Amino acid sequence: MKVALVTGGSRGIGRAVCLKLSATGYYVIVNYHSNEEEARRTLALIRENGGDGEIVQFDVADAGGVVKALESWQEQHPADYIEVLVNNAGIRKDSLMLWMEDEQWNKVLDTSLNGCFRVTRTLLKNMLVRKYGRIVNIVSLSGLKGLPGQTNYSAAKAGVIGLTKSLAQEIARKNVTVNAVAPGFIHTDMTADMDESQLKTLIPAGRFGTPDEVADAVVFLASPQASYITGEVLSINGGLYT
Ligand code: NAP
Repeated sequence: MKVALVTGGSRGIGRAVCLKLSATGYYVIVNYHSNEEEARRTLALIRENGGDGEIVQFDVADAGGVVKALESWQEQHPADYIEVLVNNAGIRKDSLMLWMEDEQWNKVLDTSLNGCFRVTRTLLKNMLVRKYGRIVNIVSLSGLKGLPGQTNYSAAKAGVIGLTKSLAQEIARKNVTVNAVAPGFIHTDMTADMDESQLKTLIPAGRFGTPDEVADAVVFLASPQASYITGEVLSINGGLYT
């Protein structure tokens, strides 16, 4: 069984990644935080398309919870290991820095940056022992360019970019790659409160992207064909660069 884990697979980009990984033959572990109904919907869509998987709930920001959930999965599946990890779970809590509260800062860093570290560290050993693994981290244009009102989110995503580049060099010899994709503005719940009619004037492609357009790139980086790509950050932004 070839197994992939997508954190935050219940909605948006994560759901699209789950479906496309499943279509390439992966048994997909759909992680979610609180939206069980949407996680069930993702799994139902996987099964409708002829694939299979399961739901594993944990909060990526909860250090103990991550280890407990993943170790328990491994105990129940002693013959298998998670060879593809997509660190997708993320949240926004925007505010200008002057008014940013500790809770807004800590929650965003804990979810995107610390969550990525904890989930990756937990699964890394098996990938190294088996000498095959693919890790894809979902970062953001905001982590490359910076965006006003997002010092927390930009810092978290820039941190994950640094993690990606360092870890890639630590483990390249073991046939485990680590890459990041940096979406611009993508149609999901996360961008539902944004004014697309105004923002799209800034985007050369003239529109927001779709979750599928991100997922296609993630699935390529998670494939055996991407074996010599590591430490890379791939922008998926309709031409909206810094
Ligand atoms: P979304 O629609 O808001 O979905 C977020 C997903 O993350 C949900 O599945 C959610 O689970 C999960 N999640 C949030 N906090 C979590 C936690 N603590 N533990 C486990 N899962 C958690 O967001 P999206 O737009 O698809 O974003 C996915 C990723 O792409 C994020 O990392 C985001 O920063 C990044 N990104 C998005 C855009 C964009 O324009 N949409 C642009 C650049 C980067 P529940 O359903 O249980 O809440």
